[in-house]
Amino acid sequence: MMFNRDTPPRLPSRARPGSAFFFRPFMRTLIHPILILLGCLAVSAAEPAAQVCEVHKTKMELKSVPVVYGLMKPNPDDPTGDLERHLFPHSHEYVLGGCVIMPDSPKTDSVYVCSECQKAAVKWEADMRLRKAELRQKILSAPKPCVYKMGTLDDGGTLSGVAKLFYGAASKWPVIYNANRSEIKNPNNMTGKETLTIPKL
Ligand SMILES: [Zn+2]
Repeated sequence: MMFNRDTPPRLPSRARPGSAFFFRPFMRTLIHPILILLGCLAVSAAEPAAQVCEVHKTKMELKSVPVVYGLMKPNPDDPTGDLERHLFPHSHEYVLGGCVIMPDSPKTDSVYVCSECQKAAVKWEADMRLRKAELRQKILSAPKPCVYKMGTLDDGGTLSGVAKLFYGAASKWPVIYNANRSEIKNPNNMTGKETLTIPKL
């Protein structure tokens, strides 16, 4: 940088004499530890707090997991979110990334996983399958006529699905339709929540 005689060199602002001249070095020595402290706090706040599973009190493992995008169609057998949070909140080895995947969307993320949560989830699913199988057996073996609330078993939400369940043949759906005309307005447009009388064949 060139200076001429008429324009004296401009000193860097912090070296210029002024009221803050003595104050600033003092502030710098004070501000640095504060910034470092704030930085540490920010880092610890950014880390997931739950390194120990709040349900099983076990130390969790930080795993690199895939980020899953798109609309997730819930399986009717899946546990509800509340139940999952209660029984096995850290069982998933994936992270939900939302509906839309963009070119810069991350493919992996880190998440704490609890092995006890995973065991609990597997056991819950096995118990659920057993309960469903028992319920299915109980409903299907009930003496006819019987009452069936659609959606209790996997009936596909259709009359032919119900007919397949109870009679082993989807083509028998008119039998159910005829016995439930007051309940069914349009057999091709079921809500899947109807309570039906299942007649004896
Ligand atoms: Zn756990």
